[in-house]
Amino acid sequence: MEDGALRARRDLPRPEPAPGEARVRVILAGICGTDLELLRGYYPFAGVPGHEFVGVVEEAPGHEAWRGRRVVGEINAACGACDDCAAGRRAHCARRTVLGIRGRAGAFAEALALPVANLHEVPAALTDEQAVFTEPLAAAFRVPEQVDVARRRVAVVGAGRLGLLLAQVLAGARCELVVAARHPDARRRLGELGIAGVAPTALPARWADVAVDCTGTPEGFALARACLRPRGTLVLKSTYAGEAPMNLSPVVVDEIVVTGSRCGPFAPALEALAAGRVAVGDLVEAVYPLARAPAAFEHAARPGVLKVLVAPAAS
Ligand SMILES: [Zn+2]
Ligand SMILES: [Zn+2]
Repeated sequence: MEDGALRARRDLPRPEPAPGEARVRVILAGICGTDLELLRGYYPFAGVPGHEFVGVVEEAPGHEAWRGRRVVGEINAACGACDDCAAGRRAHCARRTVLGIRGRAGAFAEALALPVANLHEVPAALTDEQAVFTEPLAAAFRVPEQVDVARRRVAVVGAGRLGLLLAQVLAGARCELVVAARHPDARRRLGELGIAGVAPTALPARWADVAVDCTGTPEGFALARACLRPRGTLVLKSTYAGEAPMNLSPVVVDEIVVTGSRCGPFAPALEALAAGRVAVGDLVEAVYPLARAPAAFEHAARPGVLKVLVAPAAS
């Protein structure tokens, strides 16, 4: 990825693991909204994108026990020495690199390098197609970690690749849940999961204690805000490319709490997948070989398309 364009290349070296790092052979990598926003320029990035993956550890110098294990990995590689790291905010380390997003080659490649400390072994019961959802599902688990949702009214705006994961996480969190989805297909899918899906126009005004925007659009933001009761909490779960013009005065008048939300905990995500509490199987729409990654991105960018995967081992 360079200058807003994506190209398949055969001339890149295999990443060399730094001390404390492992090299992971990528089995599957998922395309998410952040990758599409990166391509549109939400963050200046040139290099190999991709941060959702499942793979097998090829080598881990000094940590031989990891060799051959099937893993997923947390994407923030922190410095371990700064004030944020010392305070336990490793995902916010100012000196961090982020897999496929900031200063570190990502998962749309035959192999990637990550600190051993970032790796989680995948339970044997999970398929590769399930395990590749660990990272975005962890991001969904970040919401109940930040905001207490138990016994509260929660609205999710958007039922795309992230909204569908978040809806399933919240459905297990003992809250009263409504999900706004534009596409009838998405509402049907929600219904099959036992989750109340409504058209955006049917979202009740001033109803929710907590509203989560999973669309990353000014319209989604406005909708999420409008369904909140005064002093409710608005969670922004998607990356916004560029500037989003929005009317902030209702946020002030209604004393809304606005919370940004990014990476989340891997352990509950792996547990939920292994226990079958979150269904991801029918979210996969297509699997492309690595050489066709640009076509995979085009596919993922079509409206309403859920998860598109890239399989480097198959190319
Ligand atoms: Zn992502
Ligand atoms: Zn740090």
